[in-house]
Amino acid sequence: MLRPDDFIAWRGYMPELRQNMATGEWVVIATERARRPEEFASKREPRASSPHRDDCPFCPGNERFTPGPVFSLPTTGPWEVRAVTNKFAALVPDIPLRRSCDGHFRKATGYGFHQVIIETPRHDLPLALQEPAGFDRVVEAWHRSYALLAAAPGVEFVIPFKNHGEAAGTSLEHPHSQIIGLPIFPGHIRGRMEEAIRFYDAEGECVFCAMVRMERQAGARIVAENDRFTAFIPYAAFSPFHLWIFPRVHQSTFRELDDGGKAGLSTILRTVLRKLHAGLGDPDYNLMVRSGPADAPRLKYFHWYISIVPRLGKAAGFELGSGMYINTALPEESAAYLRAVTA
Ligand SMILES: [Zn+2]
Ligand SMILES: [Zn+2]
Repeated sequence: MLRPDDFIAWRGYMPELRQNMATGEWVVIATERARRPEEFASKREPRASSPHRDDCPFCPGNERFTPGPVFSLPTTGPWEVRAVTNKFAALVPDIPLRRSCDGHFRKATGYGFHQVIIETPRHDLPLALQEPAGFDRVVEAWHRSYALLAAAPGVEFVIPFKNHGEAAGTSLEHPHSQIIGLPIFPGHIRGRMEEAIRFYDAEGECVFCAMVRMERQAGARIVAENDRFTAFIPYAAFSPFHLWIFPRVHQSTFRELDDGGKAGLSTILRTVLRKLHAGLGDPDYNLMVRSGPADAPRLKYFHWYISIVPRLGKAAGFELGSGMYINTALPEESAAYLRAVTA
C-alpha cells in the first residue's frame, strides 16, 4: 500500500498547466522531468551524405524521374529550386471534385494538389545551412506555389510544410518541402478560426496580433526578431522548442506576403533554423505555414504564421487520448538558450 512518504521525492515539484490564448489549448509544463536546454540536443552522428546521388530523383540529371516541373527558379539557366508535382501525390487535380453521401457515409473524390519544392540541387545541403539567397528562393517558391494552389478551382485550404529527418516523417534525404491544396476545410483549422473569431468579438482585436504584442512586452520567450517578423516560443508551447514565427503587420493569408515581407521572412527563417541546427544538433523537425482559407478576403481576426516543431520527444497515449501535450521544457529557458546561440 502506498503511504504519503512514498511520494516524498515529488515534494516541491510544481508542474503547471498553461493555456495558449490563441488556440485555447492547454498544455502540461512538466518541469521536473525537464532536461537542461542543451540536453535536448541530438546525440546522433551528423547526417552522412554526398552532394550528388545517382539514385536520388531530386538530384540534377534525374529530372526525368519527377513529374513537372511546375516551375523552377531562377527562370533561366540551371535550376536552384524546382517545384514539381509529387509522384506519390496524396491528392490529384485531374479527377473532378465530387462529393457523395450514402446515409452518413460521406465522401469526396481525392481531388487536390500535392507539390514538392526541391530546395537545392545539392543533395547534402540542409535548408538551415543554405546561404541567404537560398532562403530567398525557397520563400519565393513557397509563396508562388501557395498562390497557384490557392487560386485553383475547388481548393479551400493550402498548406506548405516541411518534414526534416526521419522522426519528422521524411524518407527522402534530399532537402525538400511540400505543399498540399485541399478541397475541404480541415476541422482543426476551423476550430482555431472559431477561437479567433470569439476573441475578436470580445476584444475587437486579432488574437494573434495581441499575442505577439504581449510576447514582445514580456520578452522572455522571444528567440529572434527583425523589422517584419517576430519568432518566439509560445507561453503554452506544446513541445520542447516549439516555435512560432509571425509577421508583425496583420495579414490573414500567406498570399498577402509582399516583397519586403518575403525578405523579412527569409532572414528570420534562416536565423531560427540555424539556431536550431547549431543549438540542438540538427534536430528532425516539422515546419508548417498556417494560413487562413485559400479564397478568403482579408480577414481581420485571423493571422498567418509559421510553426516549427522540433521532434525531440514522442507523443504517446496521453497526447493521442486527450489532444493535450506534456512539454518537458520550460518555454522561457528554451527561448533564452536559443537566443544565446550564435547563428
Ligand atoms: Zn538528391
Ligand atoms: Zn493579426
